[in-house]
Amino acid sequence: MSLLPTDSDIRDTIKEVQDDLFDNWAKPCRISYPPVITTCSCTSDSVGQKPSSHYLHGGPLPVSSMTGCRLCGGTGQLRAEATTEEVNWIIERDPARFFLIIPNIKAIQGGVAQTKCKIVDLPKVLRCDFVVLETNVEVYRTYQYKLIGEPVDPYKIADGLYFIATWQRVLKSA
Ligand SMILES: [Zn+2]
Repeated sequence: MSLLPTDSDIRDTIKEVQDDLFDNWAKPCRISYPPVITTCSCTSDSVGQKPSSHYLHGGPLPVSSMTGCRLCGGTGQLRAEATTEEVNWIIERDPARFFLIIPNIKAIQGGVAQTKCKIVDLPKVLRCDFVVLETNVEVYRTYQYKLIGEPVDPYKIADGLYFIATWQRVLKSA
């Protein structure tokens, strides 16, 4: 049995070191997904059972019918709450030190940031509405970030373990 490390051993070591570095530098971030809107079942019910059918026939409405369907309030749409998910990413806010240098990035108004993320978070980033970076120092003036362009994976050497996403800051409206 050889005492020399194999290529596979070396790759495993590189991966472990990368994971350790990532975990040391990563900061908590929060992904917000857009609310899911579905059609209320009241819109497909037969006419006789339709709670808002009283409106169609005119005349005085019973108080209980004034708001229409109990579930959707007569709108025909059910709007689920926006969901969030906590993740840990490495954050860089200085364009000069970005993981990927982007020409003319300073021309973008309102501030930019880049995050290095584990590849498992890629579908989350592609689906997100916005993110809050570094939630552990979040104060009352929260800045939200929207994704700019496509996330990229420049880390072929680490077998595609990470990707880089670039974000533009937007001031929270609420
Ligand atoms: Zn309804």
